[in-house]
Amino acid sequence: MSETLFSKIIDREIPADIIYEDEQCLAFRDINPQAPVHFLVIPKKPIPKLSDATEEDQALLGHLLLVGNQVAAREGLEDFRVNVNNGASASQAVFHLHVHVMGGRPFNWPPG
Ligand code: 5GP
Repeated sequence: MSETLFSKIIDREIPADIIYEDEQCLAFRDINPQAPVHFLVIPKKPIPKLSDATEEDQALLGHLLLVGNQVAAREGLEDFRVNVNNGASASQAVFHLHVHVMGGRPFNWPPG
């Protein structure tokens, strides 16, 4: 499995503003925020994209969402958007699964 930017953040090889960590995952602020609050929740397991996850990852995927909830609440967010880009044509740029959590402004639907 090729090393990505996000595995380097997990290994503290490059800096990030880490706002949550446990044995399964990490949350850190996005370097190019698209909202007043924008953080990413990533598994420590290097799953390249959501569609690579298997039954074995079921609890881990749920955990990422619950950590997103917990950190969003801690950041003072009541309403927020949760987004996963799966694959290059869906705008995924970093091939280590990540859940975007954004809040602090209104969001439109459909997103475009
Ligand atoms: P994607 O387009 O793959 O869903 O999202 C990747 C996200 O990672 C982007 O929102 C981008 O701003 C963020 N990002 C890329 N490189 C870094 C980095 O080195 N540090 C942090 N904190 N965020 C990054």
